[in-house]
Amino acid sequence: MERLLADVPDFPAEGVVFKDVTPLLADPEAFALVVDALADAGRDADGRVVVDRVVGMEARGFLFGTPVAQRLGVGFAPVRKAGKLPRAVHEVDYALEYGTATLALHEDAVRPGERVLVLDDVLATGGTAAATRTLVERCGGVVAGYAFLLELTFLPGRAQLGEADVLVLSEV
Ligand code: 5GP
Repeated sequence: MERLLADVPDFPAEGVVFKDVTPLLADPEAFALVVDALADAGRDADGRVVVDRVVGMEARGFLFGTPVAQRLGVGFAPVRKAGKLPRAVHEVDYALEYGTATLALHEDAVRPGERVLVLDDVLATGGTAAATRTLVERCGGVVAGYAFLLELTFLPGRAQLGEADVLVLSEV
C-alpha cells in the first residue's frame, strides 16, 4: 500500500507531507482490494452487514465511500463543504489549524435510528470525522464505525472519534 500512497512534500503548505491517493485509484486491482477491505468495517464477524448507510466526506471520502456502499448494498450520503448541497442541510463548524471550516449534510440524508459507517481516506487531526459524527447525530443517526485508508498516528485524531469501532488499513 505504501507504494500506492505517494508522499508529496510541502503540499498544501510548507512542512506538510501530503499522502496522495491517486496512484491507488489508478490501479484497479489494488483499488478493488482496498474497497473490499474498507467494506469489512460495515460487517460483523459472520459477514453480515451491520450498517444502514455509508457517509463519506468531500472529496476523497466520495471516491472510497461510494464503492464501499455498493459492496455493502446500502445507500451513500455525501458530507460537503458549506454551500454545495442543494437542499436543506445541517451544518457544523469545526477548527482547522488556522481558522474554521463548515461541513454540511442534507437533513434527510440519514434517517433517525440509522447506523452509519463514516468513511474517509485519511484520519489526521480527526476534526473532519468528529464534525461528520455531529452531522450524523443531528439527523438522528448513530455512527456505528469509522473506516480510513490511512491514519497519521503522530496526530491525535483517534481521540476525537469516541467509542465507535475504527478500521484503518495503513498507518504512518
Ligand atoms: P483531519 O480533519 O483529520 O485533520 O483531516 C482529514 C481530512 O483532510 C480528510 O478529509 C482528508 O482527506 C484530508 N487530509 C489531511 N491530510 C491528508 C493527506 O496527507 N492526504 C490526503 N489524501 N488527505 C488528507
